[in-house]
Amino acid sequence: MQLRGSPSDRLAARILWGMGAGLATGGLLRLAGDHWPPAGATAEWLAREVLDPVGLVFLRLLFFVVVPLVFASLALGILQLGRLQALGPLAGRTFALFGLNMAVGVALGLVVMNTMRPGRALAPEARAALLARYAPDATRVQERAAQQPGLSARTLVEMFLPANLLRAVVDFQILPLIVFALLVGVASLGLPEARRAGLGVMCETVVALMTRLVQWAMRLAPAAVAALLAAAVIRAGFDILKALAWFVAALLLAMAVHLFGTFSLLLRGLSRRRPGEFFRAARVVLVTAFSTSSSSATLPTTLQVARERLGISPAVAGFVLPLGATLNMSGTALYEGCVVLFVAQVFGVPLGLGSQALLLVLAVLSAVAVAGIPGASLPLIVGLMATFHIPPEGIALIYGADRILDMARTTLNVGGDLVTACIVEDRLGAQVPDRAGGTPLAK
Ligand code: ASP
Repeated sequence: MQLRGSPSDRLAARILWGMGAGLATGGLLRLAGDHWPPAGATAEWLAREVLDPVGLVFLRLLFFVVVPLVFASLALGILQLGRLQALGPLAGRTFALFGLNMAVGVALGLVVMNTMRPGRALAPEARAALLARYAPDATRVQERAAQQPGLSARTLVEMFLPANLLRAVVDFQILPLIVFALLVGVASLGLPEARRAGLGVMCETVVALMTRLVQWAMRLAPAAVAALLAAAVIRAGFDILKALAWFVAALLLAMAVHLFGTFSLLLRGLSRRRPGEFFRAARVVLVTAFSTSSSSATLPTTLQVARERLGISPAVAGFVLPLGATLNMSGTALYEGCVVLFVAQVFGVPLGLGSQALLLVLAVLSAVAVAGIPGASLPLIVGLMATFHIPPEGIALIYGADRILDMARTTLNVGGDLVTACIVEDRLGAQVPDRAGGTPLAK
């Protein structure tokens, strides 16, 4: 089932090489600088004048797509949900399970990140060096974040419905954009069929275009990873690697708990299946998701295993799984929450309970907007970081590890789809109308 030698595999291998090259180069330059100050000055120059611009080309391409992608994919999602209304309880139950799965995933991730605090592994000088690079006005950044949600009714209105939508969008404030997209989506449900179809085609086209841009950006990823990692190590020394290693460990722990803990509980509690049997049957799907980093590319395998090994009826599998491959992304939601919190910890931006509750909701909503392809969540994470006043360039800190973590989060994304399909089958299978087709929703 593994797509050996596929373009996606080759890219993954090149990114890993880029990671190794970046770490080795940055590490050597940093060591040289620690022992011989003129070499340190040269390394700083190299990071500023050569490595940063290379990494920035890649990051800025991702930044370009944030606004159109978030708007079009959410509006499109609502439009398509409108069409699915006819399926009544099946759709309701499926979406409730998707929401639950993603919310529990983010909550788990946030608990683990708050407990292990990987971003705190950084010494104050390393933090200062990173802040100087990514947020020259660091004190203001931290103050603005600290002031953020003093959750009064007034501030809530300001957050969701700012006076000027365009100004908010210019600042990458993703929250008002999400509200606007949802409103447009809901309003479109009242339009005559022909207009709604036109809007659907328009949104689909925007999403397809933005997805192509992301794919182009991904081609630059190997060089960008090397440059970004080398520059980060030159600036923050090996501390940043320590923090990153802790982050990866914390994230994998949260993901493992979600995969084996939450999924087992859901299977036991809401369906009649034994988790052990489920995981044995689903193994090939999980491995395919891991090796392709793409829920969409895994979909054919997911459908086949659901029908042939898990005994799910074609109608339920054809409804839940294609929808899940585009909407149900618990691994991605968990990841988004953790990245935002980690980068906030690294930069010393305080995120209190209220902010983290908001982060949970936004991580779930934005995960819904993520397409099932490699690296698709990165632009959304940029938007989330800006919403919490964290310098979006901070995403460079985790980018080196993103490809490996993409494999892990896609495994969770796809596993969650299969769990949902099992539960829906066991509880509602008999009532499912045959017309529930198997057409994947485009995002
Ligand atoms: N690669 C993920 C998927 O296909 C999406 C993402 O989080 O980037 O499920």
